[in-house]
Amino acid sequence: MKDTPHLKVENLSYRYEPEAPLALDRVSLSIPRGQFCAVLGHNGSGKSTLAKLLNGLYLPTEGSVFISGMDTRDDSKIWDIRRTAGMVFQNPDNQLVATRVYDDVAFGLENIGVPTEEMPPRIDTALQMTGMTDFKERAPHLLSGGQKQRVAIAGILAMHPEALILDESTAMLDPQGRKEVLQTVQRLNREQGITVVWITHFMEEAATAQRVVVMDHGRIAMDGSPREIFSQVDHLRALRLDVPPMTRLAHMLQERGVDIAQSILTVDDMVREVKRLCPSCLNR
Ligand code: ADP
Ligand code: MG
Repeated sequence: MKDTPHLKVENLSYRYEPEAPLALDRVSLSIPRGQFCAVLGHNGSGKSTLAKLLNGLYLPTEGSVFISGMDTRDDSKIWDIRRTAGMVFQNPDNQLVATRVYDDVAFGLENIGVPTEEMPPRIDTALQMTGMTDFKERAPHLLSGGQKQRVAIAGILAMHPEALILDESTAMLDPQGRKEVLQTVQRLNREQGITVVWITHFMEEAATAQRVVVMDHGRIAMDGSPREIFSQVDHLRALRLDVPPMTRLAHMLQERGVDIAQSILTVDDMVREVKRLCPSCLNR
């Protein structure tokens, strides 16, 4: 079981209306269990459509989607599939329903028919895993954007998912909220082995993933490690995408003749290069 891909998409096509163009066009993708995979692509490239197919919210027009070996077309498995591959959306306000954080996390469990006596330990663990225990009696609508997203994630975690699909879940947050949510999900991936599909338009978030998939016109245009993907500045530009800020800076310096490494993604990479180029510039 360990070697079968956790999320498997085979020759997947999807169209919204019979006459409409394909929103996904023969996409094949295998995501191993425990991988943190970022998905990039300009608006309309098919990211959200793919996300909704990955948890059985939409069914393929052609091709197949398998979640832990379950075919999303199998009616008898649909609740298992939605529980196994939990989805976090962009707008935290649309995902919260109750007047108390605790009840919000309980809501999903009621929906999937978890017995009442099993709920409290599951809810407490989920709140703890997202760092929201101290907020459990609070009103969700009074929380910050980042805290709301963490409650939404707790609601999914309580259902014991094996994968999380996050569709631009930091897009509406301030920098602090984005950091909180990304770090929460990174920790769940690292410590609980939860598979993550992280859809984003922030290049610096994608730079922290194990793998980056780039979509364009309903197809996969690029697929590789962040270093492989972000070293292809011109290819990304042609797909109307940017590179992480430090990669861009390194590229600009190279163009001006500075002998700086090609593969810079993060501030730490940049500091290492500055140290190498100018050992006396840094004294720490
Ligand atoms: P992304 O999330 O990358 O911005 P989407 O998956 O939302 O892209 O969209 C892919 C394509 O499908 C686009 O051409 C978009 O216009 C179309 N599309 C998305 N949602 C709908 C919908 N509900 N009805 C009809 N067409 C849609
Ligand atoms: Mg989208």
